[in-house]
Amino acid sequence: METKAALLVIYTGGTIGMFKDPETGVLRPFNFDELYNYMPSLELFKFKIDSYSFDPIIDSANINPEYWIKLAEVISVNYEKYDGFVILHGTDTMSYTASALSFMLDNLNKPVVITGSQLPLGMIRTDGRDNFISSLEIAGAKSDDIPMIPEVCIYFENQLFRGNRTHKFNAENFDAFKSANYPPLANVGVYIKYHEQNILKPNFKRLKIYSKMDTNMVVLPLFPGINSNTIKAIFAIDELKAVILETYGAGNAPTEKWFLDELKTAIDKGILIVNISQCRGGSVEMGKYETSLDLAEMGLINGKDMTIEAALTKLMWILGMEVPNEEARRLMEKNLKGEIRED
Ligand code: ASP
Repeated sequence: METKAALLVIYTGGTIGMFKDPETGVLRPFNFDELYNYMPSLELFKFKIDSYSFDPIIDSANINPEYWIKLAEVISVNYEKYDGFVILHGTDTMSYTASALSFMLDNLNKPVVITGSQLPLGMIRTDGRDNFISSLEIAGAKSDDIPMIPEVCIYFENQLFRGNRTHKFNAENFDAFKSANYPPLANVGVYIKYHEQNILKPNFKRLKIYSKMDTNMVVLPLFPGINSNTIKAIFAIDELKAVILETYGAGNAPTEKWFLDELKTAIDKGILIVNISQCRGGSVEMGKYETSLDLAEMGLINGKDMTIEAALTKLMWILGMEVPNEEARRLMEKNLKGEIRED
């Protein structure tokens, strides 16, 4: 007899896991230990499903690196027992969690599918049901006994994306996530179409987790009229190690002398500055315009086409390894988990 693939569902919180209490009409969290009572149709599924619930569950606005470490540890402890993992998570910070886990779970050879919903599972028009069921199907999918998706991904509204390429762009549409710089890993309709050429290859090495994330950093979006008091105050933050500078277009910034001097002084002090565009699609190309030439010459790190979520969590992870600045720069510009364009 064919053995059922075993999946672990990890519920962290968020809209998906809510249902309307029939007596009070109030939204309450599911008890995931009773998953099969709430969704008896899962019995018909070809998977054995266990669950693990955060206690207390959290709205994803409260997520932080400690929760990412907890998630990485739950996956690591259960890694050999399960064929795949589905994480139910609030949508607000889902792309940060997916990005962070992609760096923290090294040598991942099994699927980690993160999903959520805009309407609670317990509501009649919910998008959570399809998101959940399709995520289970994807987490259990294999070809020649090898998992189809050996990476951290986000499933939402019929599309499977590489997690560290996504951002949440809509607060009310079911179609809430975009991956502007990388095509989907799979599309779901009557059939699930996996786009193998877009999916990372397994390396069959042993899973290793990194559980140190250094958060001494800031994201600084440029805007017309930004003044030197603001820039000075940011660079004067105690123990600041890195700044993600959200630049315009293809990585452009003002050419005023006071501005460039502030950046140069910060770099000379050892602060890493990463150039990431405010545009969600396309790439930083330092040196393409005069307005980015100085940035390249003074040593800003080229964030290329990374999302802010990926750049931020990658930096936390790299700083956590306490490598010298030159190595941090090299790793930031290098493709490690499919998060950045290869040159
Ligand atoms: N605020 C919720 C959260 O991110 C929204 C959601 O679940 O989609 O946890």
